[in-house]
Amino acid sequence: MNEYDSNKIVELMETISFQRIDKIDEADCFIFNTCHIRQKATQKVYSDIGKIKKIYKNKKKPIFILAGCVAQAESTLVFEKSDYVDIVVGPQAYHKLPNLIKKYLQKKMKFIDTNLNVDEKFDVLKNLVNKKSSISSFVTIQEGCDKFCKFCVVPYTRGPEFSRDHSKVIDEIIALVDKGTKEIILLGQNVSSYNYNGTTLAKLIKKIAKINSIERIRFTTSHPNDFDKELIALFGEEPKLMPQLHLPVQSGSDKILKLMNRNHTKSDYLKLIDDFRKYRHDIQFSSDFIVGYPGETEKDHLDTINLINEVNFTMSYSFIYSRRPGTPASEYKTIPKIVTEKRLQQLQGLLFKQQIDFNQSMINNENIVLFENKTQNDEQFFGRNQYMVPVFIKNKSIKAGEIKKIFIENANRNNLFGKIA
Ligand code: SAH
Ligand code: SF4
Repeated sequence: MNEYDSNKIVELMETISFQRIDKIDEADCFIFNTCHIRQKATQKVYSDIGKIKKIYKNKKKPIFILAGCVAQAESTLVFEKSDYVDIVVGPQAYHKLPNLIKKYLQKKMKFIDTNLNVDEKFDVLKNLVNKKSSISSFVTIQEGCDKFCKFCVVPYTRGPEFSRDHSKVIDEIIALVDKGTKEIILLGQNVSSYNYNGTTLAKLIKKIAKINSIERIRFTTSHPNDFDKELIALFGEEPKLMPQLHLPVQSGSDKILKLMNRNHTKSDYLKLIDDFRKYRHDIQFSSDFIVGYPGETEKDHLDTINLINEVNFTMSYSFIYSRRPGTPASEYKTIPKIVTEKRLQQLQGLLFKQQIDFNQSMINNENIVLFENKTQNDEQFFGRNQYMVPVFIKNKSIKAGEIKKIFIENANRNNLFGKIA
């Protein structure tokens, strides 16, 4: 979602005659769009600000803007931590940047806006002209979260759950189609809880599928408790809905799931996976795992390992639990690093093996690939198969936006390689 937001910020800045540039030492203005989900991302922000400060030591100071979830969470504290920052703007207030910059230039005062009015943000964003063409495009349809998992900052940084008006979502998609988009990835922190006056995610996907030029639809990220029957069944009914789902589980231990306030058990999760497979036998799953949550014993960890073995994931994100200030879990006693690191290694070893095994199972098979662009190597084309795995082929005649059957010849953990079938 930060990538989607950053692109919108670029478009907003263009309305006041700023342009995105690549040269780090020639900017009039820096905007850091930040992530607060784990401590490491937050720490990096301040060390990166230090780097910019150094580069501009003997030059005119650029306007420095801190945007995103670190800005939201730390608010005025940002100015205390770094006097280099001029404007602080939260993830639901960045649409005001053109005005904030104008005001800053007039008054040379520091400004902060951490308002959580999502409606107003999308009202402004809808007027932006999309100039970029992209075969696969993100569209935010939902933001925020009311679930309050005990480890997570999202409900505090992105605010309460909000679903966008489906007609405005469709307008945005049609504008993207005009620029060549073939695949839509619907975004939200809890995208499967999308509901705009009765239009659920399943109903929205059905509307999008009616747009002729859209060939593929995906959505991320979902919470296991938000799936209705219609949405599960849609994987079997709607060929444009791709057979790959990111479904974070966090842990395979019922005790830990309860301590996390996830409101589902391991068997609820496994049953959901089974339900999907009933409708679409080849559907593949990826997930998120938190390792070493406070209270996690060796047995809890093994429960997670067992769940991974039962599901067989094609790709996953796994991180050691990170204490986040202000969340209920931040009060709990943490587990020694030596233990969590060992568990992470074991868990990732298994997840990586499953990923390689899955990719290798594609060898000597045909995949259906939507091609997105050429790589730096001019002869190589990049696309993704049905399951989201990157596929590379050497072929000069392919065009971006084409869908082709590809015979897979080789695989590694992250990529597949093949030729036109
Ligand atoms: N809404 C989604 C996840 C959004 S947050 C869900 O409920 O599953 C993205 C991922 O960041 C989470 O799935 C979780 O694995 C990770 N995450 C969030 N807070 C974390 C923390 N305090 N420490 C480590 N990982 C965390
Ligand atoms: Fe965070 Fe997802 Fe839990 Fe919401 S449901 S609090 S976004 S992990």
